[in-house]
This record gives sequence, structure tokens and C-alpha cells, in this order.
Amino acid sequence: METAYLVLGGERVPAVTGKTFPLLEPATGQPFMEVAEAGREDIERAVRIAHQTFETGSWSRLSATARGRILLKAATLVRERLEQLATIEARNAGKPMRDARDEVGLAAAVLEYWGGAANKIMGETIPVQDTGLEVTLREPVGVCALITPWNFPLVIASWKIAPALACGNTVIVKPAQLTPVSTLLLADILMEAGLPPGVISVLPAPGAIAGNSLVTHPLISKVSFTGSTEVGAHIMRLCAENITRVSLELGGKAANIVFADADLQRSVNSSVFAVFGNCGQDCCARSRLLVQRSVYEEFNQLLAARTAALRVGQPLDEQTEIGPLISAAQRQRSLDYLALAQQEGAHVLMGGNVPSEQPNGYFLQPAILTQVDNRMRVAQEEIFGPVVTVIPFDTEEEAIRLANDVAFGLSGSVWTQNLGRALRVAKGVRAGVLSVNSNHSVHTEAPFGGYKKSGFGREMGMHAVQLYTEVKSIFFSQE
Ligand code: NAP
Ligand code: MG
Repeated sequence: METAYLVLGGERVPAVTGKTFPLLEPATGQPFMEVAEAGREDIERAVRIAHQTFETGSWSRLSATARGRILLKAATLVRERLEQLATIEARNAGKPMRDARDEVGLAAAVLEYWGGAANKIMGETIPVQDTGLEVTLREPVGVCALITPWNFPLVIASWKIAPALACGNTVIVKPAQLTPVSTLLLADILMEAGLPPGVISVLPAPGAIAGNSLVTHPLISKVSFTGSTEVGAHIMRLCAENITRVSLELGGKAANIVFADADLQRSVNSSVFAVFGNCGQDCCARSRLLVQRSVYEEFNQLLAARTAALRVGQPLDEQTEIGPLISAAQRQRSLDYLALAQQEGAHVLMGGNVPSEQPNGYFLQPAILTQVDNRMRVAQEEIFGPVVTVIPFDTEEEAIRLANDVAFGLSGSVWTQNLGRALRVAKGVRAGVLSVNSNHSVHTEAPFGGYKKSGFGREMGMHAVQLYTEVKSIFFSQE
């Protein structure tokens, strides 16, 4: 079986300990690759190399235009290898091929965006009282530790790596143990595109080791984390030790609010993918459908019909729309929540069963829960599986109140033909990204991030510059 080695300072190497671990295909439960497992010594070496490289200036002081050109070249290489990367992502993460291709295309778009943005990261000139000139510089932070989850491995890696590099930082990426392969390949591509030695490392290391050795390392200047709220809180505490800069993109429990005047069929067609896409393993999953009571029954019928038509199956089958969950544990988590929902008094309108024709993969039929009260745990906690709760409401005020009655605040949607209402509700919902008559709120060019326990900091768009730069203010006296 093929072994994927670490990327350490831009070179492919085995772990110092020689340790490896197997990756399982979620669709079959069978091992398909071995991956080198980074340990403390590998992390220590990578941090020292990244720090030395940062200090030499081979990247941080390279012209911004030259940095951008390398990212643009990498984007082209990602597009050339789209099929190879998509197949890896489909096998490793259980994603349907059509989604995997879209995601590889997205990663290329992110590299292109930052390739073009690199030489547009600018300071200001500021009028001040003293005679002279006050200017600000945007300087790279230093060595960035980028910790990514398994739900969108390549996309989220690109969201962090591309802006961090465009700003002139060196990076150490800690991918999720379940899905490290596409990130290792992205590092190869960046090296091939001309990234100088020492700028990037990708270290598949167990989470706890990464927490203790990487996050707390005094030479790490910035930590960017995407994952669970629980681990995010732990990382924030670890960062306190050295006052390390940190940004967190955590869980969600998005409300998808449908008013009676909305185009119900269009909303349903979109909403099934907004919660069951990626098998529900999406921090933006619209997992709480709030539907105005006068159309509640009609909406549920349309929703059940469209859900029944979803094609659940093997990721490599071109017809498949919904693949398996990432792991047996992640499927069990959904099954436990479904059992809990019924104890709490909810009704399973459909789905929630393990399909018998796919015995070895981690498949689960998308489930719709009705008779749900927003205070129930299934409506409050992030399930991260193919489960949606449908909750009725009467008034606009009630819809906003229910939408906000959770600990999270990442995303949400509003469906209505009434423009004034759309705006009032979008303003009223305490979440970082909202969409109106659409469930698409993630765009390469626009800021993305959460309120409340969904974290802080904005990735994507030029807002991400704030995450990966320090601002230096310099006054030049003219006397
Ligand atoms: P997780 O533990 O938060 O994992 C996310 C990343 O953090 C992985 O790379 C993980 O490495 C790493 N990690 C874990 N413990 C760490 C530590 N002590 N120090 C530093 N890094 C650490 O998420 P999970 O356990 O895979 O998933 C559990 C739940 O989290 C999901 O059901 C979902 O609710 C939520 N989640 C949210 C997102 C999101 O996009 N916001 C993504 C994934 C999961 P390992 O791979 O080695 O564990
Ligand atoms: Mg975990």
C-alpha cells in the first residue's frame, strides 16, 4: 500500500519515529493508504525551519508580485490535476465525485484570488497633528500554525495557506488525521510552483500532540483553527501562554428561515443540499429549518419528496449526491442524536436508517425531524450528520428569536419575496454570513466567519489580511 510522507520544510520525509497510520475509505471501511505520523521531534524541526526561513526573508521579503505569481502558478497546477485531487478527496473523505471536483476548483479559485491579492495588501497614510508623514505597513506575522478539519480538507487548507503565504508568512499545516492526503499534495504543488524551501510543512500529527507541541511553541506567531468549539476553546487557552494570535472557525447550527410568501419549491430544492450536502458535515449546514406555520405541512411534504429522491451511494459513482459519513464514530453520533430526538418527543418524518445495500461504508439515510421544540438538544447542538429539524413559527419576530436562540452564530438563510422583511431578518440574525433566497453564503471574495460560539476572525476576501499581518505605524518627521 502506498505511503504518504510528511512535507517538512518543503521536502517529503518519513517521520523521525518511522511511524505510520492507515487511512480508511469511508465508503468501504477498508484501508487505502498509509500516512507518516508526525511526532514532537518532527514538529520541533518544522517550526525551527519555518522560523529560520521567515528570518532569512527568502519569502517574507520577496516582492509581493513574485509571491502572487507563485500562487497563480499553483492554481494552474491544481486545475491541471483536478481529477487526481478530486479522486483522492472522494476516496479519503467519502465525497461524491461531483462535489469533490467543485471543491478542488474552489481551492484553485482561492489560490488565484490570493495570487492576485498579494500585491494589493497595503498600508495607509494618516493625517496626524505633528508635521510629517504617518504611514502604516502591513507586515507578515511570522510562523503560522494552520489546523484544519476533515469535512472540507483541501478547501479549508487553501483558505488558510493562500492568504498566509500571500501576506509573506511561513506555514505549518496540521491536517485532520482522517484526511491529510490532499493537503500533502497541495504542498507538493506549491513547491513545484516555486515556493522557496522551508516555507511550508504539512504534518499529520495526532491532535493532542499538535496542541501541546505546535500551538504552544514560542516560535509560533499565529494559530488559525477550524473544527469543533470544544477543541477551539482548548486551543484558545493554549494560545494564552505565549499571547499567540489566534482565530477560530467553529461549529454552527444555522437557521434556514422560510416565510409563507417564499417560492417553496425553489427553497426546498436548495435546502436539501444545504443540510444533507457533504452528508451534513458542514459548519454552515442549514440544520434548523424554521418554516412559517401556514405553509408548514405543505413545506414538509415537498421536503420529504425531494429528500426521498436524493441519490445516496458510492462516492465514485457519478450519479451519487450524498456519500457516507467520514467515520463509524461520526455516523454513531448522528444515530445517537436521532435516538435522543425521539426520547425528547420529536417525530422522525423519514430517514435515519442505515441502508442495508451498503453494509461496510458509513452510510446513513438523510433524516427529517418534525415536532421539534427549539430548546431540545437536537435543535441546540451541532449534529454534523444528515439530520434536519423542521420547526414552525408564526411571526417575523418569533423567527428571529428562534434563529438566535442557540449558542452558535455562523450562517443562516431567509426565504421571502418581501425585500423589507428579508433585510430586517438578515439584520436581526446574529450570525457572520447570511443569504437571502439562497443557501450559498460562502464566497472566495467575501468575508467568512462566526459570531458567538462559532468563533471569531474572518477568513476569505481581503478581510483575511487582518488574520495574517501585523500593522506597524511609522511617523516621519519633516523637521
Ligand atoms: P476536532 O477534534 O475539533 O478536529 C479539528 C482539528 O483539530 C483536527 O485537525 C484535529 O486533529 C485537531 N485537534 C484535535 N484536538 C486537538 C488539540 N488538542 N490540539 C490541537 N489540535 C487538535 O473535530 P472532530 O473531533 O474531528 O469532530 C467533532 C465535531 O466537531 C464534529 O462532529 C462537528 O460538530 C465539529 N466540527 C466542526 C467543523 C467545522 O467546520 N467547524 C469541522 C470538523 C468538526 P485530529 O484529526 O488528530 O483529531
Ligand atoms: Mg476531535
